[in-house]
Amino acid sequence: MSFALHGLSVSNGVAIGHALTISAASLDVTHQFIASGSEEQEVVRLQQAFELAMQELHDLKDRLPEDAPEEMSAFLDVHRLILEDIDLRQKPEALILKRRYNAAWALTTVLDELLLAFEEIDDPYLKERGADFRQVIERVLYALNGSSELSLAPLYQKLDRQSADAIIVAQDIAPHDMMRFKELNFCAFVTDFGGKNSHTAIVARSLDIPAAVGVKHASEIIQQDDLLIVDGDKGIVIVDPSPMILEAYRQRQAEIKFSKEQLQLLKYTPTKTIDGQQITLMANIETPEDAPDALDSGAVGVGLYRSEFLFMNRKGGLPEEEEQYRAYVKTIEAMYGLPVNIRTIDIGADKNLDNEDHKLSSNISPLGLRGIRWSLSEPEIFLTQLRAILRASAHGKAQILIPMLAQAHEIELTLELIGEAKRQLEQRQQAYNTDIKIGAMIEIPAAALVMPLFLKYFDFVSIGTNDLIQYTLGIDRADNAVAHLYDPLHPAILKLIYEIIQAAKKENIPVSVCGEMAGDSKLTRLLLAMGLTDFSMHASQLLTVKREILKAYIADLTYQLPPILSTYEPELINALVTKLNQ
Ligand code: PEP
Ligand code: MG
Repeated sequence: MSFALHGLSVSNGVAIGHALTISAASLDVTHQFIASGSEEQEVVRLQQAFELAMQELHDLKDRLPEDAPEEMSAFLDVHRLILEDIDLRQKPEALILKRRYNAAWALTTVLDELLLAFEEIDDPYLKERGADFRQVIERVLYALNGSSELSLAPLYQKLDRQSADAIIVAQDIAPHDMMRFKELNFCAFVTDFGGKNSHTAIVARSLDIPAAVGVKHASEIIQQDDLLIVDGDKGIVIVDPSPMILEAYRQRQAEIKFSKEQLQLLKYTPTKTIDGQQITLMANIETPEDAPDALDSGAVGVGLYRSEFLFMNRKGGLPEEEEQYRAYVKTIEAMYGLPVNIRTIDIGADKNLDNEDHKLSSNISPLGLRGIRWSLSEPEIFLTQLRAILRASAHGKAQILIPMLAQAHEIELTLELIGEAKRQLEQRQQAYNTDIKIGAMIEIPAAALVMPLFLKYFDFVSIGTNDLIQYTLGIDRADNAVAHLYDPLHPAILKLIYEIIQAAKKENIPVSVCGEMAGDSKLTRLLLAMGLTDFSMHASQLLTVKREILKAYIADLTYQLPPILSTYEPELINALVTKLNQ
């Protein structure tokens, strides 16, 4: 039976393919028969994983802050009791011994049986307890895997076997997993959770494949291999579509393909408005491997290199200076002398630094020790990164971009540490660009409101609209429950962006927008009207934005701006922006 599920659009386009459902644990373990004679060994491996999981629970309980709610401690006790459950241990052991299942397979077989039994319970409270069993077993699976995350190897196998028409359906995908998915072969993805501007969504958008997030219960409703249409423009997933709907979407796909081919023709056209205003279009990247695509899209530099992705999802410690230096040089060289803004590590919120050496620093709240706050609290790590960037600056036009600044003392300390890193390199007699430019992200409302402070100290500024919106409107950008309140056209946001641009222009300090607003072609004219001349976005968005710029006439746009900025009525703002785009 055909039906549609609704969520949030993350990345435009239409995909038609078959569901590849992945869950955090149960489905994605390797299923293999172990060699005869190795059963006892596999049982021991499983027992050790149980012990490790138990130890982790003890550690977690010991580390609970004194003022932690009582429920947390009770919750950990429940999980410990589940882990001690003799059945839960013996059943998978029996599967290993009798059927020679590998430990992970045996464990998830038992989990599947348990979850089925919970599903049949009528009492809603008891029914929900199935989730506790799932979480406990996931913990053991992590321990079996020897890491805090599951191997993607089984997913690789599946995607290798499947054709490129696989559509990943998951409950949620962490940003670092999304990064790893970049290497895989699939044509769209759908998740139950997530906001339009979460880092997962941003990375997904860079893949240039249709995607929808916040499609509630998608991973439960959609079955493996279901035929799906993902309408990325509307955030709709159609399950088991009728032949008529399928045909309509096939036609839409052909139109999109044609329009993309047309866009390619603009690649070498200079980026100028009709009245001759030169506009700079740069690219946002997450890894050095993204740089060739940036260049290929016609970007004239990297406006934002999110260096934190080099630090996330690592088995060992954090990257040493040499490893970082190589990554930065690789990026700079790939951009052939064009500027590259390397943003210092912006860990926190949904970008989790789940690293063996820095476990306690993970899961930072968006209001916590995020971005530069974290770097300043770890001066040795920050100095290592600064030295690596500075050394790389000897190979091309690297610039340093600092995230999440809000306070004068953070600015001073940051600049002092940059000075210190330079002195260290001089002592080592290592080269760097002594004239390297330092920029600040303006992404906390406090920073936007004290622009003269920032303009005094920095060579350039870049507006991070994703966080500016999050913090101004008090909305977690990764939470789909409040996604409808995430509004780039809120009058407070428009006022802040306009004032940042004007303040920087007045002081002749280059200003760009590198948040997702820069890559949204429906907002291009509005930003041009506000006086923005430098945009940075994912390579996949660049030509669509360029097309808008080529059709724009700045004098006319500027004339239409005052009424937009002077009203507080959302509907009127929307109507005026629609008119601006006509
Ligand atoms: C932003 O906040 O707009 C930004 C570009 O940084 P990030 O999305 O990495 O937080
Ligand atoms: Mg940000």
